[in-house]
Amino acid sequence: MDERAYVFTKDCLSTEHEIPFHVAARASIGVGGYAKAAFYPENLSKLILLIDEFKKHHQPFHVVGNMTNILPPDGRSEAVYLFTTKLKSVGMGRTVFAQAGVTSEELLDACVRHGKSGAEFLAGVPCTVGGAVYMNAGAGGKHIDDILESALVYHDGQIRVLKKEDCAYAYKESAFMRNGAIILGASFLLEDTDGESVEARRQAYLETRKRLPTGKSMGCVFKNPKDISAGKLIEGVGLKGFKFGGAYVSTEHANFVINGGNATAKDVRAVINVVKNAVLSQYGVILEEEIRYF
Ligand SMILES: Cc1cc2nc3c(=O)[nH]c(=O)nc-3n(C[C@H](O)[C@H](O)[C@H](O)COP(=O)(O)OP(=O)(O)OC[C@H]3O[C@@H](n4cnc5c(N)ncnc54)[C@H](O)[C@@H]3O)c2cc1C
Repeated sequence: MDERAYVFTKDCLSTEHEIPFHVAARASIGVGGYAKAAFYPENLSKLILLIDEFKKHHQPFHVVGNMTNILPPDGRSEAVYLFTTKLKSVGMGRTVFAQAGVTSEELLDACVRHGKSGAEFLAGVPCTVGGAVYMNAGAGGKHIDDILESALVYHDGQIRVLKKEDCAYAYKESAFMRNGAIILGASFLLEDTDGESVEARRQAYLETRKRLPTGKSMGCVFKNPKDISAGKLIEGVGLKGFKFGGAYVSTEHANFVINGGNATAKDVRAVINVVKNAVLSQYGVILEEEIRYF
């Protein structure tokens, strides 16, 4: 079947949606053209129903959270975006369970209320739980795999619990990048303590982030190579502030590419490619992107 011919069913249209979907309006880097549609399911059943529907009709789709680590394409795309941002339940028990759309801020609010410590390093990371579990998000030397017990996923038409050991975690890497499983939620192993100390640690992490650039970005573009920061290498090749079209290398943090206001995805890609080539020719180091290209 021609993908373009797929017309959304009543089931799809009973979920909040945008047709077409202006991608730049949601992506933190503020670039991207128009996609076929965006859907915002308000519960897991609706999310699964939409996934099944799109698979059945060979309709390409992306499951996304806050779109803070994604470089979408310019122009028109036939893809559909499935946002998890309305999946907001948090449950407190032996572990802390959060659905995919819970943001780091909402998770930490719950941790403060219930006196659960361990997730404070996520303070200020503009992620959802789904995006963080997929990316193995981290800050201050800690990563999701330090606190994850298991992930609840939808994979091959089945809902499953994947233990952390089955998530193949490494630095900014996970099995989800290869297996196509959709993260419905995650259970975190956190320590019981008092809310005030959780809030104090959260504020301390937020304090360390005050130096980060504030423009439209995807956070760090590149993974840090072993024993050196990507930012230092980019500084070393003299590309801080390098500009192409509307995109430039941040002057505050060289691993951030900023949309100065009117950048296109093509501009951002051009800056990334110049940086990669310069670092390779001067240092012989291949910088690997942390961001995801759609
Ligand atoms: C200003 C700024 C600061 C940042 N600081 C940090 C930082 O300190 N540390 C850090 O690690 N990152 C940082 N980031 C990057 C980003 O916030 C993280 O990678 C975050 O985990 C992405 O979460 P998200 O919800 O935005 O995911 P998205 O960007 O929406 O998605 C990222 C990837 O995960 C996939 N995905 C999302 N949800 C699901 C799901 N439910 N099931 C399956 N796949 C899914 C998407 O398809 C995509 O491939 C920063 C970004 C910005 C803009």
